[in-house]
Amino acid sequence: MKIDVNLPHGTPILPHGLDWAAGEAQPGQSRLIYAATEEPLVDVPDTSEAQVDAAVARARHAFANGPWRKLTAADRARILAKCEAAVLAHADELATLQALETGIPYAQIRGMHVSRTAENFRFFGELVTSLSGESYEQTGRYLSIVTREPVGVGLLIAPWNAPLVLGSMKMAAAIALGNSVIVKPSEYAPLAIMRLVEILEEAGLPPGVVQVVTGPGASVGSQLVRHPGIDVVGFIGGTATGKRIMADAASGLKKVGLELGGKSANIVLASADFERALDGTILGFLAGNGEQCLSGSRIMVEDSIADRFIEALVARVENVKVGDPFAADTELGPMAFRAHYERVLSFAQEAHASPDYRVLTGAKRAEGFERGYYVAPTVVEAFENSTRLCQEEVFGPFAMVQRVRDLDDALQRANDSEFGLVSYIWSNDLPSVMRARRELQAGTVWVNTPMSRDLRAPFGGYKQSGIGRDGLPGSVELFTEEKTTMIPQEPLDLPKVGGTLS
Ligand code: NAD
Repeated sequence: MKIDVNLPHGTPILPHGLDWAAGEAQPGQSRLIYAATEEPLVDVPDTSEAQVDAAVARARHAFANGPWRKLTAADRARILAKCEAAVLAHADELATLQALETGIPYAQIRGMHVSRTAENFRFFGELVTSLSGESYEQTGRYLSIVTREPVGVGLLIAPWNAPLVLGSMKMAAAIALGNSVIVKPSEYAPLAIMRLVEILEEAGLPPGVVQVVTGPGASVGSQLVRHPGIDVVGFIGGTATGKRIMADAASGLKKVGLELGGKSANIVLASADFERALDGTILGFLAGNGEQCLSGSRIMVEDSIADRFIEALVARVENVKVGDPFAADTELGPMAFRAHYERVLSFAQEAHASPDYRVLTGAKRAEGFERGYYVAPTVVEAFENSTRLCQEEVFGPFAMVQRVRDLDDALQRANDSEFGLVSYIWSNDLPSVMRARRELQAGTVWVNTPMSRDLRAPFGGYKQSGIGRDGLPGSVELFTEEKTTMIPQEPLDLPKVGGTLS
């Protein structure tokens, strides 16, 4: 069926309607509202229980009987290279859809998210052509060969904040390794992923290898996680949801990879390059509207430079251009949807009301907008790391600053968190950097840089930020089963149980 997207005035690229693969419209629909104007964008049909069953059956059929799994790695890589080219050819359209559904500035999505999405397909395509197996000859009598096979049908559940990059990372890994997948995008941001999957089929992916199933997580998502036809679940989203998914998947003993929330420390020492640390710190909590799992939203500044750093930080943040996601100079767009906007503002109210904090700027609705879910970029000083605003993920343009005595104090506070996704350290003193690298309890430590990814390197969290890793070797482990084959190298002299029959 066709879904017509109501394009707000000024949208640069007109995406065509979306062909929704899962079937006919159902009574349940998820209404998307454009965050910048609060106007309805589109009603996306929720997938019914019967349609979920049909999608899983189609995925199982594609896996068992379709050509994909049986193609050589080189042939799969060739098709994935076509997927990369197709994504780049549709870059404007994909970026438009994601900007409409998330409110994140178009320039950021067009500049970074779409190219990374394309790269994901090429990277994992090339990777599978270079994977090697193992063999052992420990006893001499046997040759043991270890090979990897696709798991079967993967369920990939994506969040709303960066659907293209995050959805495609897991999708590319899973299909490159020969699996079929069902993608369940967030009910708040399904459009870019829906269009992406159409584009992949147009590029040559056989039918049924990737399907999109839309609808709310609590019903449609949960049905999929518990579905006996799903073999492996790759989830990116909040920690509370991740725990539920792990519990649901446990009854079927399914493999699970969880990329969850964060409340990451951004440590600025006196030995840092001041200007670069300032630039990186601001990017660290404002990029992607601050709606990022890897946001460096707990800023810890060494006492001796704290006054100067905080003053400069506040001045720069007050200068941030908030506005229309499609305006070229916009640095911060609206929060993605009303409930989330209200949640961010509830943290702002708490910052004003509690003696634990001092609001330095923002912590309110952004001024100058009649409509739209705009939050002013916010910097709040916190006196204790144990306070709620330093422990809970706000997921908005919202930084908590703490003054710290020295590196020891910073490390102690940084690790005093239930999360452990990433961390940032700004210093030109090598021993301090090396010590921080060793001590920080986080899956990634960024030294003198804002967020950056190397697709080969593992990405994932310590503690309640997740289980497993994307990248290598985590993606391969999640989406393959290892198989050991043992072959005697000479005829075996087996005992004759039951004797010899004459
Ligand atoms: P969320 O947990 O509310 O939802 C994520 C997805 O799970 C959505 O598709 C949702 O529909 C689905 N879902 C919800 N309940 C479900 C259930 N019971 N069964 C199956 N599926 C269910 O998260 P969100 O609000 O979409 O995203 C924001 C969160 O994601 C933040 O906590 C952020 O830190 C995290 N995140 C983590 C990473 C990472 O790589 N670690 C990346 C991006 C976002």
